[in-house]
Amino acid sequence: MNARILHLERARGAHPRMLVLLIEWSKRGTFDICVAMHGGVRTDPGVQTMLSGGGMSAASTLKVTPHGRAGALDLWPLGFLAYVPKSFGGNAARWASWAELPQLIRDQFAEFGRFSKALGFRWGGDWVGKNYPNGDQPHHELTDWQRLPFPPPTYAFPVELEALLASTS
Ligand SMILES: [Zn+2]
Repeated sequence: MNARILHLERARGAHPRMLVLLIEWSKRGTFDICVAMHGGVRTDPGVQTMLSGGGMSAASTLKVTPHGRAGALDLWPLGFLAYVPKSFGGNAARWASWAELPQLIRDQFAEFGRFSKALGFRWGGDWVGKNYPNGDQPHHELTDWQRLPFPPPTYAFPVELEALLASTS
């Protein structure tokens, strides 16, 4: 028990129903995960433009991405961190292709995806298409995010997660 969630502060502002995923993983997860940079609620239109232009998001505006409505989280196994490029806050020269990832990391993405779906979330790893031949593996969202208000209100951060933050900082 007690899987760690690194950069949990990046999830602040996400919808409380979305954050259930992190609360449950912290209790029952079998490996540590990380909240991606810009992987929680997004409020800066410039950031969305940058992500969209860089091929990291299919949505060109905040209104049409669940991240703009606080209804999504991008999460990955900790072992994936080494592949984050410098321009995205990591230390690698570029993103790794799916084919380059170690099998362990691919298996962990899949395990976390199954965990998420079992809790009722929609997992981007299921979206296999032209732009994302292996799906959007880090992406998890509420199935009804389009009905969430835009821009999102200030959602409270659950006490369980505040406690986790306090215990790890
Ligand atoms: Zn996402």
